[in-house]
Amino acid sequence: MGNYCFGIDVGGTTVKCGLFMTDGTLVDKWEIPTRLENEGSSVLPDIAETIKAKMDELGIDQDSVEGVGIGIPGPVNEKGEVPVAVNLHWGFKAVASELSALTGLRAEAGNDANVAALGEAWKGAAAGARSVVLLTLGTGVGGGIIIDGKIVAGAHGAGGEVGHACVNHEEEIACNCGNRGCLEQYCSATGIVWLAREELTASEDETPLREVFKAGTMEAKDVLDAYKENDPLACRVMEKFGDILGGAIATYCAVVDPETVVLGGGVSKAGQPLVDSVEKYFQKYAFTPCKNTPIVLATLGNNAGIYGAARMVIK
Ligand code: ZN
Repeated sequence: MGNYCFGIDVGGTTVKCGLFMTDGTLVDKWEIPTRLENEGSSVLPDIAETIKAKMDELGIDQDSVEGVGIGIPGPVNEKGEVPVAVNLHWGFKAVASELSALTGLRAEAGNDANVAALGEAWKGAAAGARSVVLLTLGTGVGGGIIIDGKIVAGAHGAGGEVGHACVNHEEEIACNCGNRGCLEQYCSATGIVWLAREELTASEDETPLREVFKAGTMEAKDVLDAYKENDPLACRVMEKFGDILGGAIATYCAVVDPETVVLGGGVSKAGQPLVDSVEKYFQKYAFTPCKNTPIVLATLGNNAGIYGAARMVIK
């Protein structure tokens, strides 16, 4: 049994690396660039190299390391294989076994959003919870589902893809995934801008938002800031947002019945007012036994990925 483990979070531009004690103490944290040339063939060797360098630097031997966990921006099946990861220029890659061969350490791989959910369930907003649903509200909507302390990777690596649940059967505009009416189309940063644009087009409110809208520079943050200042139009937008997201979360709770629902990602920086907009409609739609499920803000930020990756290799 080792006392250390590594948690690696691979992104399109940088790889975040963490060295942990198996009790969850973060010992060291650093980053290396993600080299995408030659179909991203350097990504795993670079990670193996930085791990070995860190072990040399701190005088840690192989036997003291429990393993290395890695989060990948793409679908990952239960064997730790990636069919394709567009952001890394990868086709099929047996990530866990390749990383294990390169490092000589036990390795586990998971989808980055699923891994972040595991991180929040271990040491973050849902610390100690056995079952968690995490929604990452960023440019898109990702997520992760933890049941009995384990990631639900799914039969096709699509477990926890909460952003692509259809929440509007009437939608005519396509989501990035090709379907129509996905949660992501309304409840991501892009979605909030889109909801606000609709509301601005349908109404004549004179609001500071209209100026940024006319200037073509409106971002989700503008809408969220206006919402926090009780701008009536921004409030209508966030009612719609809360209705859609609160309804989706009620559905996830009826399926998973988690102990805690965690909201993360850039949009969640709007804080408690955002949670309040969701909670109101969650209460409206939730199946009665699930109504007390707390909806909370993520606390680990960008570190959720390295925490969750490390957690994967601890038995
Ligand atoms: Zn979609």
